Amino acid sequence: MFKKVLIANRGEIALRILRACREMGIKTVAVHSKADVDAKHVRLADERVCIGPASAKDSYLNIPAILAAAEVTGADAVHPGYGFLAENANFAKVVEEHGMTFIGPTPEHIALMGDKIIGKQTVKALGIPVVPGSEGAVTTHKEALEVAHAMGYPVLIKATAGGGGKGMKVAYNDDELLDALDMARMEAKANFGNEEVLMEKYLRKPRHIEIQILADNYGNVVHLGERDCSIQRRHQKVWEEALSPVITPEQRQAIGGQCVDAMKKLGYRGLGTVEFLYEDGKFYFIEMNTRVQVEHPVTELVTGLDLVQQQIRVASGDPLGFTQKDIKFRGHAIECRINAENSETFMPSPGTISYYHVPGGFGVRVDSALYAGYRIPPYYDSLAAKLIVYGKDRADCMDRLRGALSEFIIGGIDTTLPLHRKLVDHPDMRSGDYNIHWLEKVFFGGDKK
Ligand code: ADP
Repeated sequence: MFKKVLIANRGEIALRILRACREMGIKTVAVHSKADVDAKHVRLADERVCIGPASAKDSYLNIPAILAAAEVTGADAVHPGYGFLAENANFAKVVEEHGMTFIGPTPEHIALMGDKIIGKQTVKALGIPVVPGSEGAVTTHKEALEVAHAMGYPVLIKATAGGGGKGMKVAYNDDELLDALDMARMEAKANFGNEEVLMEKYLRKPRHIEIQILADNYGNVVHLGERDCSIQRRHQKVWEEALSPVITPEQRQAIGGQCVDAMKKLGYRGLGTVEFLYEDGKFYFIEMNTRVQVEHPVTELVTGLDLVQQQIRVASGDPLGFTQKDIKFRGHAIECRINAENSETFMPSPGTISYYHVPGGFGVRVDSALYAGYRIPPYYDSLAAKLIVYGKDRADCMDRLRGALSEFIIGGIDTTLPLHRKLVDHPDMRSGDYNIHWLEKVFFGGDKK
């Protein structure tokens, strides 16, 4: 097992990794920007190294500085968390070249799945159904029109290097398509340094269902069921559940089994999430994430497995030690992402936390790096806290969630807590009758076409 892990991240996930390490008797190194001197995980870590100024590109994305910190402190592994360098194949490669373990999959697998076109082609060849769309990249107006006419409108244009729901454009007719193609290529270049885009059929009422995979270095692979992440705004997840209210045990076994087989053939290792859209009883692969996900706690609550500890164990060379048969799903879990944003305008709301009261009690978990007096810096993403609630079934979970949301107080900044309070009481949410467009349509008057 590792003796010392460097945590190449910040915020709640850095704290999450730190706690996992501490329970396993592993020392931790926090690396942080100048803006994060007072961050909770920095204070709690065994060692801390400042790696640069506030701007992420000079600190949390600064590979030479992170490697230097790892060498100076004698870390034997690096945990990248999610975001920042978590899906940077080059980072994984240089960490390993410097004689340390990258807690994640191989650089080759990260690169394969980091490109949406190659990722789709790879899993399709492994027998997984993919969302209909262009065979490869779409560059010219002529190509775009041909693809759109062959599959029919509406269509979605996506950056092949994209992430975080950024740079997607929907088109309902030829005129919109040509504008959208030019815009999407420009935005992809600006955001991801790569203008390549692909086209997909734009599904009208799918749910976002993703399968959690865990694999060791010896070909043992299990799935840990699905998460339903259909409550989204601007293609970003707002509320996640495990298991999905609409997937039957037979469907879970079938799609989970397909993902496990594909990952075995690929020789995949570590944690991974195979993301699908699910419509009219069919699954369509959209992408695979080769890291721990923000929403991993809901899977932890229904399986009883600590995913971050499992991830660290398999990275250190431990065999899984259990099989698919040993995985039992119990109860229901929901996660609300509470962002430091206005709940109506979604304007970011950094600032000082004047008062902080977290809910508690049986089945209530809060993953957050906030504390009273902490100043949320304006430079990074707006996730402030994750409220994760467990119940013996979905109705019980929703009742507990309502209570927990009513107790949660974050003073001094705007948060999206009011949105979650409305959601928990909405009849469609109670019944589970929603899809990826529901939140925008019902709450924000979005996409009426
Ligand atoms: P990103 O990597 O930016 O997260 P994804 O491909 O994972 O992009 O898609 C993010 C979200 O965008 C999905 O959960 C879904 O809501 C929406 N989306 C993606 N592909 C489609 C599609 N073909 N039709 C409808 N919605 C889609």
